[in-house]
Amino acid sequence: MNILPTQQNLASWGCVFCGELETVRHALVWCSQAQRFWRLFPFPIFAHATVESDIKEWFQVLAAEMSSSQLEQIMVGLWSLWHTRNLCVWNGQCCSPEESLSCAMRTLHDFQARNALPRPGVMRTKSHWQCPPMGTIKINVDGAF
Ligand SMILES: [Zn+2]
Repeated sequence: MNILPTQQNLASWGCVFCGELETVRHALVWCSQAQRFWRLFPFPIFAHATVESDIKEWFQVLAAEMSSSQLEQIMVGLWSLWHTRNLCVWNGQCCSPEESLSCAMRTLHDFQARNALPRPGVMRTKSHWQCPPMGTIKINVDGAF
C-alpha cells in the first residue's frame, strides 16, 4: 500500500539491477550492470573511473583523454545505459549489457550513416519529374526514415 512516489519512497527505491542506492554515478558507472557494459566497450573506459570521482569529474577526464570519435561512442553508451535502465524500470523489459551495447552501437551506426557529410567531388544527381507514357498512370510517393 505504501507505493505512492513520496520523497521517502523514492529515496528508498534501489537500483533495479543490484538494489544499491541509485545515483547518476552508480547507474552510469559503478553499478555491476554498467561495469559489465563498459568492460564490453570497444576500448577501455572503466579504467578511467575512480571511486572518489563524481560523474562530472569522470566525464571531464574522459573528454580530456579521448578522441572526438571515442567521446561520441561514450555518449551513445551513456544514453544506452540510461535507456536500458528506463526500459527495465518502467516497462519491465530488462536486457543484458551485451544487448545494451549492441543497441548503442547500432544507434551510433544509424546516426552516423544518416548524418554523414557528402564526400568531396561526389555530386548528388537531381531527379526531374517526367510525364509517364500515354496510357499509364504514375503515382509519386514520398518517404523518410
Ligand atoms: Zn546497480
